[in-house]
Amino acid sequence: MTAPAPALPVIIIGAGLAGLTVARALHATGRAVLVLEARDRVGGRTLAVSALPGSAEAEGLDLGATWGWSHHPYLMELCQELGLQPFVQPSTGATAYETVAGTHHLPQHPSGSTGYLRLPGGAAALCRTLARQLPAGSLLINARVTQLHAPAGHPTITVEVQHEGGPRTYRGSAVVVALPPRLAAHSLQFAPGLPAALQQALREVPTWMAYSMKAVAVYATPFWRAAGWSGFGASQLGPLGEIHDASPATGPLGALFGFFAPMHPLRNAPLAQRQAAVVQQLGRLFGPAALQPLAYHELDWSQEPLTSIPGDEQFPDQIPLQGPARLRQPYWDGRLYWAGAETSVSEWGRLDGAIESGQWAAAQVLKAQ
Ligand SMILES: Cc1cc2nc3c(=O)[nH]c(=O)nc-3n(C[C@H](O)[C@H](O)[C@H](O)COP(=O)(O)OP(=O)(O)OC[C@H]3O[C@@H](n4cnc5c(N)ncnc54)[C@H](O)[C@@H]3O)c2cc1C
Repeated sequence: MTAPAPALPVIIIGAGLAGLTVARALHATGRAVLVLEARDRVGGRTLAVSALPGSAEAEGLDLGATWGWSHHPYLMELCQELGLQPFVQPSTGATAYETVAGTHHLPQHPSGSTGYLRLPGGAAALCRTLARQLPAGSLLINARVTQLHAPAGHPTITVEVQHEGGPRTYRGSAVVVALPPRLAAHSLQFAPGLPAALQQALREVPTWMAYSMKAVAVYATPFWRAAGWSGFGASQLGPLGEIHDASPATGPLGALFGFFAPMHPLRNAPLAQRQAAVVQQLGRLFGPAALQPLAYHELDWSQEPLTSIPGDEQFPDQIPLQGPARLRQPYWDGRLYWAGAETSVSEWGRLDGAIESGQWAAAQVLKAQ
């Protein structure tokens, strides 16, 4: 007697927080999953870098998403389930405020991130932990999906992938696309083609924070705290518009991170020029000790082709409260689903929304199959 053929996996495109949530939920019910991720890492818009070469993972610094909030139920629950302990963003002390008239230290003005929550090792710890819990062989990195094909009369979907430079084909019983919607419309081919109204909905949703660029400066200690400053700064001069304490939860290191003003001309300048301008600004805000960072990290998300498409460097005209209804329904006879922070009906664009959307998509797949 021949053994029955193994069930085809549900294929999940993208190993960001949404895609990994889908995989976790389906795997928990015994379903086979295959997550295909184009980058050489999981996490998508969560990304933590080593503070210094050889620093512990728990001292990772976020170049992508940073904060959660206690009123984000999906995120709080996931942290608890994964055994990740959020800590409160350090924010005690004066605000530094920079205008053309100079730098003002405002002791009575609370930091703009009071009460925000962070994770040891950065928000990227969520995705690292989720990925580690998946069964061997169910996650493929360096696997960029190019094409999805639903053959007529077949209960399967074929997915074409570029894996380490060569083509590969995978077959699944269903597919969940967990990419920013406009990136999916821009970079994936669908056969048969998607309905025009769906294509329009995909293109119209902005990708949250795609316009953003972060810089992080690392110091031997969070020296600004002893001087009575919170590390929070706001500037009308730039290049950073908003600055926060980014120090790791443990260890002696200090770090400050800031968001570049959208479309700031220095974003296109040579790295050394931009880094010098950032460090000078931190010096103006927090004193001479800020002029000697041990390390400098930065990332312009608008230049990341696996997050953003041309035009995303502009701040979106409108920020939706919820993802479009058309992305909350299956296509291709219940074989094609959408997930991702931009499809969420809870905290649109945020980590909490990514988890909510992933749980929703997994529930839809299970209902249909
Ligand atoms: C700078 C920055 C700061 C942020 N700050 C916060 C914050 O403080 N709090 C908060 O709640 N949210 C924040 N966000 C938003 C948060 O990061 C997102 O909501 C969340 O990470 C989105 O997860 P996702 O899985 O939906 O999408 P993504 O993380 O974008 O995941 C999509 C995945 O698909 C992969 N992919 C793309 N194309 C392909 C392809 N063709 N084939 C296979 N894989 C592909 C990508 O590599 C990526 O891994 C921030 C984002 C940024 C960029």
